[in-house]
Amino acid sequence: MPDTYRCVFCEIVAHRAPAHVIDEDDLSLALLDIQPFTEGHCLIISKRHVPWWHELTDDEIASVFRMAKRVARNLGSVFSPEFVCMYTRGRRIPHTHIFLVPTMKGDVLDGFFNALERFQESPETLAAIKHPQALAATAAKIRSSKG
Ligand SMILES: [Zn+2]
Repeated sequence: MPDTYRCVFCEIVAHRAPAHVIDEDDLSLALLDIQPFTEGHCLIISKRHVPWWHELTDDEIASVFRMAKRVARNLGSVFSPEFVCMYTRGRRIPHTHIFLVPTMKGDVLDGFFNALERFQESPETLAAIKHPQALAATAAKIRSSKG
């Protein structure tokens, strides 16, 4: 990362950039996404700059997911969605952030994940990796990994 790179999430954690903060503890912060998919779309970020969620410490993981649960329950209470979708990515801003999106049947996120699930179920494309022996080999590989 170049020296001039200023991570917007680190700036928010340091209170040098504005944000609509929803919740905060020692290790995590929840804020509204400024480009929401739906009303109430929130992000849960780690306070420490860590690009990928699986690189967080166990304490950070516990904090981030506890906060995600707490905020998701509040979103459910306020917006009455069908459910609160949670996912994490981090390609645009390389600082761990979990998306919490109140989701209803037929909205953009529902359509996106329906399309993804249709792809997942397409037999020609994924036949090689969904064969029972291939699945057993994949599970064994993951189980034996030392991370
Ligand atoms: Zn950062």
